[in-house]
Amino acid sequence: MPANRYPYATPDQRVRRLEDEVYLLRRAIIELMPDDIANALSDYRSCKSYREFAEWKRKTVGFIISKAEVDPKASHFEERGWCPLCKGGTRGPYQSGFKIPGGMEKHLMGDGNASQCVVTKAAFDAARDALRDGFEAEEEAARREVEERRKTEQTLLIDPSLPPQLFDERQWWNKPRPADALTAAEERLSSLNFEKEVSQNVIAYKLWYDGRLVLADPRTVGRITFRVFNSETPKKGSKQATFNLLDGWKNNLAEKFQGLLAEACKTLPKRK
Ligand SMILES: [Zn+2]
Repeated sequence: MPANRYPYATPDQRVRRLEDEVYLLRRAIIELMPDDIANALSDYRSCKSYREFAEWKRKTVGFIISKAEVDPKASHFEERGWCPLCKGGTRGPYQSGFKIPGGMEKHLMGDGNASQCVVTKAAFDAARDALRDGFEAEEEAARREVEERRKTEQTLLIDPSLPPQLFDERQWWNKPRPADALTAAEERLSSLNFEKEVSQNVIAYKLWYDGRLVLADPRTVGRITFRVFNSETPKKGSKQATFNLLDGWKNNLAEKFQGLLAEACKTLPKRK
């Protein structure tokens, strides 16, 4: 243990000073880099959410990989090179450095079990610490907005233990289904004997199968997702089974659906 460096300070003051030192050390690591890389690693201020932050990290890592040079001595049979930031890489008897781009990306992102580059770790941690309060305020505002919208806009019951979802909620990684394609999906559900239940602003597409509740979710373009529950009032987080029916499937639809549904039910606990 190092000697107490701040003998007269209160614990809070010590934490403050250590935080300041961590900040300065991270900045020092970043500023040891060439200007274009130091600028890229510091250019995070436009990120407004964790999602944008994740995109920024990927983009920055892509830029750094574009600066990596292939070292012909590092491998005879694939493109490998050394990290342009920390100059690190593996050292094996037959090949060394990192595979470009895959291994290099893992090293820079700290993905999987790769130990992360000290430079990107310093830069990404510094960025996250600087942005965190803003993200939390932003997410809180977004949560409140969703709750307000749920009161008035059309919503869909996808899981009885959750509040009904907006048609574009948590869909940012998927493309939402346009309104005319929703009609086609409804026709498909009705041909599979689903009942459309509407109460106030909540829609549910329901089917009972062998005492189990099946809820359909047609919000994403290209497929309908089905969730199977052992009861109409499942506890939050209790086991459910899901499967998809692709819009592109045209033949023997009822048979395919029955097969997938029976398979999904096998993964659920036995009903008492
Ligand atoms: Zn590195």
